[in-house]
Parts: sequence; structure tokens; C-alpha cells
Amino acid sequence: EKATEVAKKYIVATDTTFAPFEFQNEAGEYVGIDLDLLAAIAEDQGFTYELNPMGFNPAVQALEAGQADGVIAGMSITDERKQKFDFSTPYFDSGVVMGIAKSNEDIKSYDDLSGKTVAIKIGTEGATFAESIKEKYGFTTITFDDSSAMYMDVMSGNSVACFEDYPVMGYAITQGVELKMVTDMEQGSSYGFAVGKGKNTELLDMFNKGLENLKANGKYQEILDKYIKK
Ligand code: GLN
Repeated sequence: EKATEVAKKYIVATDTTFAPFEFQNEAGEYVGIDLDLLAAIAEDQGFTYELNPMGFNPAVQALEAGQADGVIAGMSITDERKQKFDFSTPYFDSGVVMGIAKSNEDIKSYDDLSGKTVAIKIGTEGATFAESIKEKYGFTTITFDDSSAMYMDVMSGNSVACFEDYPVMGYAITQGVELKMVTDMEQGSSYGFAVGKGKNTELLDMFNKGLENLKANGKYQEILDKYIKK
């Protein structure tokens, strides 16, 4: 190694608010399962990175445009995305679920969405699912950039439901967000760390190796337990 060689600092893009995977704590620091995992993996593998919390869809677009080296954002490993991105080993299983206002007693199934407005978050698996059933159940969609704005629209009564990842909606509800789930979770994809297709392969390799090490030494489980209380 030449003395002049400067270690690469990777740019990792993430969502702004997707608790318990990424969110700001009271001190304004970005924490959560994804970010704690990334920090622990970087330490284990000895790489440095700059975190760029920009929202989910912008993060995915930045990765596609080569403006970010990686994305960690509760990003579902889907076949469509595999055309553009390479994913790490899956690190968390997820699925999509409908959320309605806590006080709503009218919506019991997708059939009750007929003629109503449903809130979705741009570029997400939940949005794709809602779009896939909207004709069948006769509802229209309204889009939001982030999960909290989407929840707010449902709580205010402007829309009757939203579609979100089960662990994220579940966590929001435990944190006092006034929503509830009345239907079963839809089969969903697991989360993975993503890089551009054929790009940053060394970063992807380090992520996978670090994840494996964290699983073996108990740190992975420790991080999950910190955010998901049994
Ligand atoms: N898991 C979902 C997806 O990949 C949502 C991710 C997010 O909103 N941060 O589409």
C-alpha cells in the first residue's frame, strides 16, 4: 500500500424516518437497526462511510444514478430491483400490511376500501402492492414521501388506509401512533443492503462478511433486541 493512498469513504444513502430501522433519536443522531448494523459492520470490516439520510425513493434514485455507493433503508430485495442493484445477504424478513385509523370501525377488509382514498409512500413495496389491488377493490391512491406524512393522512381522516411494512407499522403503533392493523400481513420480501449492479463489489463483500461475523458473535441479535422488545 502506498503511503499516499487514501482509504475510500463510501456514501451510504438511507431513509429519513423508518423506525425501528432508521430514525433520529432525541439527541438528533441517526440510529436504528439498519444504522447500528452498518456501523458495527464497518467497524468489523474496517471501512469508513458517510451517511446520507435523504428519504427512501431519493436514496434508491441516488444509488441508481451512482451518487451513492450503497443504500441501507429497510430496502426490500425484489426481482425488479435485482435488475438494477446487487443485494447483500437478506438481514431481516418483512411483509406489507394495511393500517387504518385506530378509531375506524368501518374498514375490516380490502373490500371496504371501495370508493375511498388510500395513502402510499412513493417507491415502496407497500405502494406497489396497493397499486396492484386498487382496481380490484376500487380505491384511489394518494402519495407521500415519507412514512410519517402517510400515517398523518390516515389519522386525519383524509385517507382511510395506508400500506406499510409490518415491522415498521407495528413499531409505530407501539410508539403511540394511532393506527391499527385489521388484516393479515401480505407475503413480502426480506431487507438487504444494496449497491449498484456490478459496482462496489468490495463494499458488498465486506457487508456480507461483517454481517456473518455479527451473527456469529451475537452482536446482530443484540442490535435487533435493542429495538424490538419482546
Ligand atoms: N421495504 C420497503 C421497500 O423496500 C420500504 C422501504 C422504506 O420505506 N424505507 O420498498
